[in-house]
Amino acid sequence: MVKDTDMSICVNHTNRAATARCVTCHKPLCAECIVKVKGSTYCSQTCADNAARFNAGFRPERGPGLFASIKNLIVSLVGLAIGLAVLVGIGAYVLNIGFCQKIIKMLGL
Ligand SMILES: [Zn+2]
Ligand SMILES: [Zn+2]
Repeated sequence: MVKDTDMSICVNHTNRAATARCVTCHKPLCAECIVKVKGSTYCSQTCADNAARFNAGFRPERGPGLFASIKNLIVSLVGLAIGLAVLVGIGAYVLNIGFCQKIIKMLGL
């Protein structure tokens, strides 16, 4: 596990063992380099800000995103159904016009 050994050394102090990792960029950090914001561990204020922005934008995007995908699914299904109906109608008209006329006569139209 070469990667594990690399990750356990602080990014800023190569002679120090990392005790935590940045939540945002996953950089290994020693106790001195840790920036604690709202109980989470970051390497810098920039990463803390990015995480806050990501968390703020994540939830509102999820709802409409799911709604939009369901709406798109319904729209595409309706479109498919209409397309299929038109195709069957054209097919019936082109291929079975005699058969259709028989049915129309049977119904007395
Ligand atoms: Zn970071
Ligand atoms: Zn350090």
